[in-house]
Amino acid sequence: MEPMTVEDDSNPSVPSFLYPSDYVEKVGFCYTSYCNIHCAHCCSDCGPWRTEKFDPALVVELLDEIKGLGTEISGFTGGEALAYQDEILWILSEARPLGLKYSVATNCSFAEDIERARDLIGKLKALGLASMFVSYDVYHAPFIHPACIVNAVTACKELGLSVRLYAHQRVEDKGIESLLPEEVLAGLDIVSGRIIPAGRAADLQLAEADWNPHFYEGFCDPKSSLMIYPDGSVMPCCAIANSSANLALGNVRKEKLADIVARYRRSPYFRFIKTKGFSRLYKAACMVAPGTRDERFVETCGFCKYIVENDAIMAAIQSILAENDIAVCNELLDGIAEFAEAGALSE
Ligand code: SF4
Ligand code: SF4
Repeated sequence: MEPMTVEDDSNPSVPSFLYPSDYVEKVGFCYTSYCNIHCAHCCSDCGPWRTEKFDPALVVELLDEIKGLGTEISGFTGGEALAYQDEILWILSEARPLGLKYSVATNCSFAEDIERARDLIGKLKALGLASMFVSYDVYHAPFIHPACIVNAVTACKELGLSVRLYAHQRVEDKGIESLLPEEVLAGLDIVSGRIIPAGRAADLQLAEADWNPHFYEGFCDPKSSLMIYPDGSVMPCCAIANSSANLALGNVRKEKLADIVARYRRSPYFRFIKTKGFSRLYKAACMVAPGTRDERFVETCGFCKYIVENDAIMAAIQSILAENDIAVCNELLDGIAEFAEAGALSE
């Protein structure tokens, strides 16, 4: 593979090395790794054989801590969180005095019948549900009848709930427009994503066009949206984080969420990827570990995973970011190069 050239990593919309927002916008729960289906592209490797799940009482306690952060939004994803719909309803009912708003991500398998869809979504809305995130694409289609998606979306629209459809595909896959009726897709907030080769998706063959040669031009989402997993680990996102234990910020079973969030806010790495992006880090990674030039990535998240799982690269980046004043972190590359030349790093 030809070495890539990074021309420019400036982003005029991000003027400073600071979090654009000074608070955590959302803290959600990966409520379970259980899923009633097993899509081939599941980067979390969820399925009917998985048993990890939250204790509902712990979630209620944590929602209180989330509110204490000044955060107003939480949510539930999985796996299929609505496989435990009675527990989710109980949690929202217990936590109702907190006045939080919620999202739920679902594969809509609960919505085989429109009346059941209206009933469950109506109950959730009465307890604070503000938005529904629906996942559907060519990988869900073998397990989930399109009518389930139609019913869930219809019920959300009737109830005035925000609904967003997430669809992932490879270049060669059928698009969402060939899977669902036009009238359901009309006016829907649709987020199309690429297949990231992590979890089970690592077994899918990607074509040349699926890889993004300009992946390093991206940023980590500047909003702070954390995710708590059933083992208590707190991750900076729900992307592929759960397949990268190195991304963990802390564990709510051992420390207060507020302390974990404080550590996250101080983290030079997360501040850097959210405000400066990945192009400088890509150049740094290529210096520290020249084999990086031969790696291919689909999105910034795949490269982020690569960085945090590579001890030499991560140690180099963290040393530079920790030893320099935040204002001079634009000199990161020079610092990395000096470290490399001094032989302080092993590849
Ligand atoms: S992609 Fe979603 S619906 Fe499919 S197995 Fe994974 S968690 Fe379940
Ligand atoms: S770039 Fe890293 S921290 Fe940001 S969403 Fe992707 S995996 Fe998570």
